[in-house]
Amino acid sequence: MSLTDIIAQIAKAEAKADRPAGSVQLIAVSKVQPAERVDAVLKEGHRLFGENRVQEAADKWPAFRETYGSVDVHLIGPLQTNKTRQAMELFQAIHSVDRPKLANTLARLVQDLGHCPELFIQVNTGEEQQKAGVLPNETDGFVAFCRSLDLPIAGLMCIPPVDEEPSLHFALLKKLADRNGVTGLSMGMSGDFESAIALGATHVRVGSAIFGARTGGTA
Ligand SMILES: *Cc1c(COP(=O)(O)O)cnc(C)c1O
Repeated sequence: MSLTDIIAQIAKAEAKADRPAGSVQLIAVSKVQPAERVDAVLKEGHRLFGENRVQEAADKWPAFRETYGSVDVHLIGPLQTNKTRQAMELFQAIHSVDRPKLANTLARLVQDLGHCPELFIQVNTGEEQQKAGVLPNETDGFVAFCRSLDLPIAGLMCIPPVDEEPSLHFALLKKLADRNGVTGLSMGMSGDFESAIALGATHVRVGSAIFGARTGGTA
């Protein structure tokens, strides 16, 4: 597949779900991919990417931005508190806000730096031990906590368990977002972005379907 195919499939899924064209943003997940593949997608004109590690993004994106001008890059992986400042300088959005300590640090740095990336709260919809994110039953409280710090919450994000029907998790995330008045939904990857769009995704995170399989590196 290619960028063009994925863009066409997103348009089709939007239409099928009776959603306006362009209501879903495609985050091209470039983690671990060789620079030539990322460069090719930039040459095609795409300007929104996702990375799951702060350091990898810091090594990679300044040079691309030098060449291509402004490019939005979203952090979709875990954020250590001590890298928050660096992350706020590199990324236009953080999809992995998942604990009070990180929210407190973000709130302090927003004052310091005078700007705030778009923030998504990661929800561990499958309640998996090894996975980051707040639990579904903690979500209302955590959204309220972030808002009490004046952090605007752009959306919720989830990564469904690999062995479960993703649409159940997408529907749960949508329900949690609706009841908290949160409008963004970061959900859907290469294998399931169409069903995520049917269930209201506003941001899909697609890697291997655009760039090809990742060799080595992190999942
Ligand atoms: C790697 C990754 C993706 C993209 O996965 P693909 O299956 O390659 O599309 C999406 N979201 C997160 C959080 C990821 O780490």
